[in-house]
This record gives sequence, C-alpha cells and structure tokens, in this order.
Amino acid sequence: MALLRVENLQVHFPIRSGWFGKRDVVKAVDGVSFEVTEGKTLGLVGESGSGKSTVSRALLKLIQPTGGSAYYKDQEILGLSEEAFRPLRKEMQMIFQDPIGSLNPRMTIESILAEPLTIHFPSMTRKQRRDVSAALLHRVGLPVDSLQRYPHEFSGGQRQRIGIARALAVQPKFLICDEPVSALDVSVQASVLNLLKDLQAEFKLTYLFIAHDLAVVRHMSDDIIVMNRGEVVESGPADEVCERPQHDYTRKLLASIP
Ligand code: ADP
Ligand code: MG
Repeated sequence: MALLRVENLQVHFPIRSGWFGKRDVVKAVDGVSFEVTEGKTLGLVGESGSGKSTVSRALLKLIQPTGGSAYYKDQEILGLSEEAFRPLRKEMQMIFQDPIGSLNPRMTIESILAEPLTIHFPSMTRKQRRDVSAALLHRVGLPVDSLQRYPHEFSGGQRQRIGIARALAVQPKFLICDEPVSALDVSVQASVLNLLKDLQAEFKLTYLFIAHDLAVVRHMSDDIIVMNRGEVVESGPADEVCERPQHDYTRKLLASIP
C-alpha cells in the first residue's frame, strides 16, 4: 500500500534575471509523481540543484507548491490548513543534511528533544519528557549524560544521531531524510546509514531517502527515482535502475561512483 502518493507536483519560484531584472521562473520541481510504499524506502537521487529538497519541503508544507497533489494515507495534504495538517505532520518527520545548522546552538540536548514532545504531547510531564529523551539518546548510541550538553560539544556524526532522536521523539511513521550523511566523513556515513536501517526495521518506518550519491541511495532503497532539472527521468526497483539504467543521466550518475 502506498503511504504517500505524489501526483504532478510543481514548484516554480519567481525570480528576476538578466540586466533588466526581467521576471522569470525557476521550475525547481516540474511535474513530479511517485509513490512510497508503506514500510519501504524510496530513494530520490539527482545532482545538486535538481529539485530534491524542494520536493521534501513542499511535502512538509514548508513551501507552497505551484500545482499538483500529495496523498498521505489517501488524504490530500497540500491543500490542508496548518491546523488540519498538524496531526499528520507528527507522523511525517524530517532529518536534515546539516545536523549543525538544524540544532539550535543555545539549547541543551534535553530541550532540543523536549521541543517536539511539548508540541505534540502537551500533557507529558517534564520527567516523562526527560525519560523519553534519555531512552532515545541511548537508542541512537549516545550516552545519556549528553542531555545536559550543547550541540557544539558533539561531532558531526553524533549531531546527526541527535537529529534522528529528535525526529523519532514523536513516534513518526514516515521519515524524509534529506542528504542525511552528505556532510559527514565517509567513515561515519556507514554507521549513520546502518542506524537508519535498524530503526526502520524496529519501528516499521517508511523512508523517502534523498541523496546526490547513487551508491548511498542504492544501499538504502527498495525503489529509486532519478531527478534531473525538476523532472523524474527514471524510476524503478533499485537494482534495476542501477544495473540496467535507461536514461543517459542515470548512466552519468552511475559512472561517477568510484
Ligand atoms: P537539490 O536539493 O536537488 O540540490 P533544490 O531543491 O535545493 O535542489 O533546488 C532546486 C532548484 O530550485 C535550484 O535551481 C535552486 O536554486 C532553486 N531554488 C530552491 N529554492 C529556491 C527559492 N526559494 N527561490 C528561488 N529558487 C530556488
Ligand atoms: Mg538539497
């Protein structure tokens, strides 16, 4: 069953270009359709600038799409009010590329993890929030005494684990992982990817896994869609796309894998 179905999504940004500031549009996402099957991982791959983050931001309603529809559990979400979207937003969490930029440097890890709990479980006591946070930190492989520390005291890989713990705090069903390991050293990437795989099995999560690196996407995904200049140029089971690519752009991405 498709947990998320996206139909003909379009996001066009108005810009001014050229010497005279002529009005123009950037077609960041131009007619993108795909389905993410419950419990599976759909990989979304494409070079920088191909529109991947714009897709993820539109799905979480952080930006207003120009056109198209998205159905989460058969309910159209792009047209929902913020109020009506809130209970679904709890089920759809996001992990960002930059675990440094996405964690407030002035907040302790305890407050960072407590924030989504306060929003989505307002009746929880402080003690309950701390217990949940401690258990989450333990699950993602960080010492529980990290709660009183600040983001800058952690390495990039550890910060991404904190970002993952924050996303999991509200017991989501669907995670959008937007380049979750791109900012990390290669040696650290595998451990974070394996953590994401283990968590998917444990909590029956569904992933939209975004990256520019086809090797990383193949490692994580059941199915893959390839985006170029705002459009899907190829899609199919991960092995098929990687072993029998139909489109030149996919072949180019494959050729860039060392
Ligand atoms: P990716 O995540 O694949 O690197 P993005 O979705 O970030 O790509 O960007 C796709 C295209 O849309 C790029 O050309 C980018 O410059 C443009 N873009 C993204 N956000 C905006 C914006 N707010 N205003 C204008 N152009 C934007
Ligand atoms: Mg991006």
